[in-house]
Amino acid sequence: MPPVQLRAPAKLNLYLRIVGRRPDGYHELETVFERIDLADELTFEPWPDSTVTLTTDHPTLSVGPDNLILKAAKLLQQTAGVSTGAAIRLTKRIPVAGGLGGGSSDAATTLLGLNDLWGLSWSRARLKPLAAQLGSDVPFFLEEAAVAVGRGRGERCEPLRGVPTLWHVLVALPTALSTKDIFDDWDCAQAGAALTVPEGSLKILAHALSNGSLSELAQGLVNDLTPVAIRRCPLIATILSRLHEAGCPVVLMSGSGPTVFGLCRDESHARTIADSLRAKGSPTWTIHVVRTERCGGE
Ligand code: ATP
Repeated sequence: MPPVQLRAPAKLNLYLRIVGRRPDGYHELETVFERIDLADELTFEPWPDSTVTLTTDHPTLSVGPDNLILKAAKLLQQTAGVSTGAAIRLTKRIPVAGGLGGGSSDAATTLLGLNDLWGLSWSRARLKPLAAQLGSDVPFFLEEAAVAVGRGRGERCEPLRGVPTLWHVLVALPTALSTKDIFDDWDCAQAGAALTVPEGSLKILAHALSNGSLSELAQGLVNDLTPVAIRRCPLIATILSRLHEAGCPVVLMSGSGPTVFGLCRDESHARTIADSLRAKGSPTWTIHVVRTERCGGE
């Protein structure tokens, strides 16, 4: 069996609202995910016994059982009753704990890669419950859609069709923010207050996305976690204003941060803004020009 090689793309959250609290401690979300062309790379090779091994070029990321790749491999191996193993290699390009869903994407890609390597021929629909068990953002990466609305913990996804390719400047920071800490901070900040999410705001965004109008998008993009993330990492606020000053009409934080991005008119607009930020910003910021990554068949 030849090695299976797959890209594991990152996501941005174009919209993230907390619409409820759940008895299980999770939050009820409404979010819009966008797959982008910043990606990790995973290679899967057969292994003679049931062992699954993981190696990576990342200097500090654990390759132990806590890595989501090994969790996904074990879960699929046990659920499908597979007795063969795999040697998995990860080339890490997505910043870790940056709000870009790198671990979740790696987990979903592992389900797809091993499904292929082990000749299981499971459909994506059959893999989805495993994905949801691995994490709230994992099922999105099994969707054959570049943009999708996520509900529940984010795991109930519905593709949003007809969104044109979007161009972004993305600024990643060396700071890692824990998703759990940010949600805990949000709970403390709310202190049990009633949640008020304006009716129809997701519809307004979906409409703006379908016609790609930046001025309309400026009204619709929102991330409820931004104020609490800024309290832990004030640099987020600085970068949001720098992106705005550099000419991005719409700026936002992704997920639980700290990665921040701006929407641009087109590729050349994005490259101009990225160059200006590189010239004026700190060398510790990593600046990427990224765009929507389409899936096969879209
Ligand atoms: P979340 O999906 O929780 O919002 P994130 O997108 O901010 O996370 P990730 O890069 O997915 O960030 O990392 C979240 C945590 O998962 C980190 O603490 C990291 O150590 C752990 N982790 C486990 N496996 C991986 C992996 N393959 N790649 C990145 N992080 C991983």
